[in-house]
Amino acid sequence: MSDKRPPPQPLRPLDQALAELLAHARPLSGNETVSTFDADGRVLAQDCVSALQVPPQDNSSMDGYAVRSGEVADEGVVMPVSQRIPAGAQPEPLVPGSAARIFTGAQVPQGADAIVMQEDTEPAGEQIVRICRVPAPGQWIRRAGEDVTRGAVVLAKGQRLGPADIGLAANIGLDKLLVARRPRVALFSTGDELVMPGAVPPEQMKPGTIYNSNRFFLRSLLQRLGCELTDLGVVPDRRDATIDALRTASRDHDLILTSGGVSVGEEDHIKPAVETLGRLDFWQIAMKPGKPFAYGKVGNSHFIGLPGNPVSSFVTFVLLVRPFVLMLQGASRVAPHGVAMTAHFDWRGDKRREFLRVRRNADGGLDLFPNQSSGVLTSASWADGLVDNPPGRAIARGDAVRFIPLAELLQ
Ligand code: AMP
Ligand code: MG
Repeated sequence: MSDKRPPPQPLRPLDQALAELLAHARPLSGNETVSTFDADGRVLAQDCVSALQVPPQDNSSMDGYAVRSGEVADEGVVMPVSQRIPAGAQPEPLVPGSAARIFTGAQVPQGADAIVMQEDTEPAGEQIVRICRVPAPGQWIRRAGEDVTRGAVVLAKGQRLGPADIGLAANIGLDKLLVARRPRVALFSTGDELVMPGAVPPEQMKPGTIYNSNRFFLRSLLQRLGCELTDLGVVPDRRDATIDALRTASRDHDLILTSGGVSVGEEDHIKPAVETLGRLDFWQIAMKPGKPFAYGKVGNSHFIGLPGNPVSSFVTFVLLVRPFVLMLQGASRVAPHGVAMTAHFDWRGDKRREFLRVRRNADGGLDLFPNQSSGVLTSASWADGLVDNPPGRAIARGDAVRFIPLAELLQ
């Protein structure tokens, strides 16, 4: 049989591939207003500006007594208790020569400039308190506006909201937020060898067949990025079936994501099928795992084809698809932060840039999963991060390496 394969392309550096990919990721039109309760994981489409200061007034950070510090020059001063101020109450100005009973979060009365915690006081009669420790001016007072000043941008457009952020939005009185709409993503896997778990019990699996694992983690990765998912299941390794699936997927979806069939073998139908309906850039990326990767357009939908090998699929998703999907939502930060950590392993290196599956150990270093093959999904499950190892670099135990936590890539 003649070999009709095209000549091999030069490998494309990952940073270049990422930049080219992201250049296609225009933010989607159509923002939506959601309840702040439901905004976790969404990307803000508008700055959140505070209409008030937080805390709104000076308040006490202790249960105790509000005083004028100048009136308590010595230990053991005895004072009448002129008022009681629980949280939520509006205090009267502090009567000179007196203390006010005050509780955590309660507004400090006008005239008071310090709180004496109740542990530093003792009762000295009916509505009389003894101050056992001299207060420093300002002590145990949380200042008005020390958290948020009026007019401040507390959360900027493009920020992806987490739990603390939605709390902060609530803190400045926002019950609704304008966010980017969820990207609509169609997903399918290719491969005649793929069997769905549950369809055939493990002991009856035919030789040559494997369970479809990519479908499971790709669904979960997409959902974690806030996508609205249409799962088209498994498409057989045939040109016509692949074209049909792509045509369906291109309706009403912002992105079509596939796994497998993106290499240049005769059973790889993604490339010609996308080219029949739209256009495709096929890249060989200089990364390991990974390498084959495709970006294109089918109608108005973006198309991204991931490699079939599970770890390649997983790693190319978190390093390329994740930033792309975040960019569609207008996120301002899409690249993960790497941190320097110490390798507690030796590694030969590779001519391609590698993303090694590693795990932090109790000694503050990184352990390497022993089998770094792109088919070994156990490595990704075991790992809590990736070491970004530059091309041609051997790692010796004790070397500093760039660690990217998976926790960041999976959220
Ligand atoms: P391909 O990219 O289609 O040539 O597939 C490369 C390798 O990944 C082959 O060993 C496939 O069997 C495997 N593979 C492809 N798709 C999946 C999938 N959805 N789940 C698990 N393995 C897969
Ligand atoms: Mg295949």
